[in-house]
Parts: sequence; structure tokens; C-alpha cells
Amino acid sequence: MSEENDIIDVTICPQEECAEELKMPGMLDMAKNLMRDGKNIVSNAMQGNTTLVDDTTRDTRWSTCQACPFLQKDRCTKCGCFMKVKVAFKTSQCPEGKW
Ligand code: SF4
Repeated sequence: MSEENDIIDVTICPQEECAEELKMPGMLDMAKNLMRDGKNIVSNAMQGNTTLVDDTTRDTRWSTCQACPFLQKDRCTKCGCFMKVKVAFKTSQCPEGKW
């Protein structure tokens, strides 16, 4: 196999195609998600409600994320959020409706 063919093989590697499908949302979408989530957390707190879920709920959510194909290095590729943090808040929602 020539050196040129090696390069072509790498380009069409299925793993690269998978990585391409799991890109994070754009900066604008991530900023919108962060603003929405932050607003919901503050709004919930201002109403006197607790902002955090109990440990069992947090752990169950995190387990769901860890088994999810959209999780990449602790971040959800659907919303761009750091899931170890997001799973702890009462107002958080999975963008795929998994929890
Ligand atoms: S938030 Fe939902 S879509 Fe994102 S990684 Fe967790 S389970 Fe998957």
C-alpha cells in the first residue's frame, strides 16, 4: 500500500466519521443553553426552592449519561454541557429526554 493510500484510508476511517457526528453544538447554541439553564436555576432559587436534586437522582442521571452515546469526555454533544455539573440541578433536562 502506498503512502498516499494510507492517507486516504485514514480520511475515510469510520471512527473519524463517528467523531464528526459527535461534534459539540456551535458556540451560539451552547451560550443559549447555558443562559437558559442559568436562568432556570436562578428563577427556581428565587422562588425559595432547592436547586439541587438528591444524591440518588444525581447518580442515576449521571449513570444514564455515562451509558449514552452522546457523552464525550464528560460533555453532552447534544447541549454542550458538562454533565457532571448539570445532572445535579433540579431544573436541568436531558435534551434527548432520557432523564
Ligand atoms: S444529557 Fe441526555 S443526551 Fe446528553 S449525554 Fe446525558 S443522557 Fe445523553
